[in-house]
Amino acid sequence: MRLLIMGPQGVGKGTQAARLSEHYGIPHISTGDIFRYNLKNNTPLGQEAGQYINRGQLVPDEVTDRIVEDRLKMDDAQGGWILDGYPRNAEQVEALDRMLEQFGQKLDAAIALDADHEVLMERMKKRAALEGREDDTPETIAKRLDVYAKQTEPLLATYEQRGLLVRVNGVGEIASITEAIVAALDSRA
Ligand code: AMP
Repeated sequence: MRLLIMGPQGVGKGTQAARLSEHYGIPHISTGDIFRYNLKNNTPLGQEAGQYINRGQLVPDEVTDRIVEDRLKMDDAQGGWILDGYPRNAEQVEALDRMLEQFGQKLDAAIALDADHEVLMERMKKRAALEGREDDTPETIAKRLDVYAKQTEPLLATYEQRGLLVRVNGVGEIASITEAIVAALDSRA
């Protein structure tokens, strides 16, 4: 199973991706987690990405695409994966298309989680207080939602046109949302 999980920050992508990873036995690949790990360990990649992440901006495509390509080539990713936080703009969609063509692989679905703006803002505030993510300041949260609306949300139409989009409401019990996603995916299979 090769899946994308898409949706605005705070909608619960990471939580659902982790549960789907377990359900289907596929690795959960989060570009945000990879960047945060590198930031924390002060690697050259972390130093480069940090300046963008801390402003709520996207890390340049060349950097992000290469990380994803390297990760998708690893052994544990040969039987499938769930990509969380990538692609985030039209160039990244094209880059992923090229990678999959090169690997002779196909996407099974793009899951789109959605929730009202107010629900998202509340969740982000709670997460900021709980996790203390450095990029969860009010300014970067607003910036990231803006980048999402302008660059990432239009990609849902792209995957819809390809017949790959599975829309699921991101508000409700965590377990019920996972069940709704699995039911939607299994009904396509
Ligand atoms: P996330 O945890 O997915 O919200 O990602 C946190 C931050 O990492 C984002 O605000 C971006 O600065 C950076 N990032 C994550 N994924 C990408 C991506 N696909 N393209 C560019 N930047 C990304």
